[in-house]
Amino acid sequence: MFDRFGRSGRDTDDPDDGDFAAARERMVQTVSHRVDDERVLDALESVPRHEFVPADRRGNAYADRPLPIGDGQTISAPHMVAVMADRLDLEPGDDVLEIGTGCGYHAAVTAEIVGPEHVYTVEYSTDLAESARETLTALGYGDVAVRTGDGRNGWEKHAPYDAAYFTCATPSIPEPVREQLRSGGTLLAPVGTSHQTLVEATKRADGSLDRSEHGGVRFVQLRG
Ligand code: SAH
Repeated sequence: MFDRFGRSGRDTDDPDDGDFAAARERMVQTVSHRVDDERVLDALESVPRHEFVPADRRGNAYADRPLPIGDGQTISAPHMVAVMADRLDLEPGDDVLEIGTGCGYHAAVTAEIVGPEHVYTVEYSTDLAESARETLTALGYGDVAVRTGDGRNGWEKHAPYDAAYFTCATPSIPEPVREQLRSGGTLLAPVGTSHQTLVEATKRADGSLDRSEHGGVRFVQLRG
């Protein structure tokens, strides 16, 4: 059985699972040269990335690079997911807003760190949101809240957030997302269009953002 993005049904007795586990271990090893936070590396070790990518990409699921996930979108490279989780310094119980669910992989990694019931993710594409919800549920991350909509509006209902991050590049930090961050909370986003910079911003008590830049990055553009 294949869904609309060519993913196969889940089968926990899959004889390939051992191979995937070994490949995942090697991937974590590679990522550990850039990120040494054990909580982040454990999360990468726990999430079956091959279950999130289209069936014909599974063989490359544990290569440290982005992969197409359908609808012209890509799943970020594992080291980028790790770098972002590390930068956000996520703690168990933190409430986190994600803009750009995609296939749900990054949300699952975040869920491993903070707990699935603390992850709120917004996806522009109805098909991707639906598919991500199915995958997350099938893999035990069903408490991750997925909403279809424009992430530039954030998700008011569950605010304030301890952390928020974008998995698509935004020309600037949208006002509602800044507002929905708690004071002292951290935001991470690729900011720019053709040239993007990873921007980290901490919300000051007066509501303004204390920004720092962390190098050039390449993400798909925010839509809408
Ligand atoms: N974190 C994802 C990667 C997603 S790629 C993963 O692990 O797979 C970026 C995603 O942002 C795409 O799915 C795209 O549809 C979504 N996106 C683009 N513009 C958006 C917007 N305005 N609001 C919410 N999501 C958006």
